[in-house]
Amino acid sequence: MTKESNINHTLSQVADNEMAAILKKELQRQKSQIVLIASENFTSQEVIKTMGSVLTNKYAEGYPGDRYYEGCNAVDEVEDLAIKRCNLLFNSNYSNVQPHSGVQANTSVFLSVLNCGDRILSMNLRDGGHLSHGHKQNLTGKYFDIFTYSVDTETEMIDYDNVKKLAKISKPKLIIAGASSYSRIIDYAKFREIADEVGAFLMADIAHVAGLIAGGIYPTSVGIADFTTATTHKTLRGPRGGIIIADKKYSGLINKSVFPGTQGGPLMHIIAAKAVCFREALDPSFKLYSQKIIENSKVLCDFMKEKGYRIVSGGTDNHLFLIDLTDKHLTGYEASEALASVGIILNKNVIPYDKLNPNITSGIRIGTPAVTTQGMGPNQMYEIGEMIDFTLKNKDNGTALKNVARKVKDLAESFPVYSGL
Ligand SMILES: *Cc1c(COP(=O)(O)O)cnc(C)c1O
Repeated sequence: MTKESNINHTLSQVADNEMAAILKKELQRQKSQIVLIASENFTSQEVIKTMGSVLTNKYAEGYPGDRYYEGCNAVDEVEDLAIKRCNLLFNSNYSNVQPHSGVQANTSVFLSVLNCGDRILSMNLRDGGHLSHGHKQNLTGKYFDIFTYSVDTETEMIDYDNVKKLAKISKPKLIIAGASSYSRIIDYAKFREIADEVGAFLMADIAHVAGLIAGGIYPTSVGIADFTTATTHKTLRGPRGGIIIADKKYSGLINKSVFPGTQGGPLMHIIAAKAVCFREALDPSFKLYSQKIIENSKVLCDFMKEKGYRIVSGGTDNHLFLIDLTDKHLTGYEASEALASVGIILNKNVIPYDKLNPNITSGIRIGTPAVTTQGMGPNQMYEIGEMIDFTLKNKDNGTALKNVARKVKDLAESFPVYSGL
């Protein structure tokens, strides 16, 4: 993916022996397991190297050219470069690259246009929404009045007529389009129409699909939603962090809400790594990468369907899909534990209208960004599908599972990501 570089010190050769041992263990885990967590990826060595730079030493509260501290010439250039590349990548005229995470990007948008008690209409968590869109324990649930829309009981897809109906009834100040476990395309234009009809702001949270949008194979929300928030570490394959994209007219409002609204000093080493990630995503090879993510997702999804698993909404248009295990008499908890025991790492997930609680769940979520970064293709998807099916059918047969575990390790190790480490 990138040229071999000397980042060993950041991974397994730190002088702190105690920590070095742990880092080595984690590196080994990442090399030998198959990661199907839809929100995870393997970032490039360039990104890792940049994150491990001296930029972490610098305080730079404020924005380029307008800082509260001296000595910001270089970090100003870093942030300007990140903003320039982000705007180029997402075809926007304003972006804020400072949010420490996706949730903080969302929180900053809320702070910018909402007051305590204002109403938000967002996707039900059980149907694919995110904790930061209204969970009781999240700031959104505590300070705002949350109304939610669900997916259709039959199609398990967003029913836009129903969203419109709910918007008209609830008259929200902000509508959120975006999800963590929704395998279909979200129609931002339809959300825009609905928002306009009730006079609401529209925020698109593209945390999961940012890389697919950057690759040009998933419809963009930029230019349609008032605010687009994203994470840089999921399909976008960069450092752990968040961004906000909006029209220039919102720049003052958003900048103020990020700093001093929700954050202090920006993480300049992470912003630099975001800039590196944006450059990688601007390369034509990234388009190919994002196409392959979806191709792998569809192949694995179809394979599981042929094996008799019920797929939520019947299929996928993106990097992930959900399997409903109800008719297999397995919970998501049991399935994910069994799969983890052979080295296939994914997460249990609630499915629409799930009757089980979020710690147990009726489903599992499968995503292909990480295995695609490793260079795996359709043949490996069949292999992985077979191993998932076998493991779930033989989850109490220790000897059989030992064999699968060996195969998982062999497969993972034959697609190394970090060469030379
Ligand atoms: C992952 C995710 C986030 C949160 O990102 P963090 O960086 O973990 O804070 C926000 N929104 C959605 C839809 C997500 O899937």
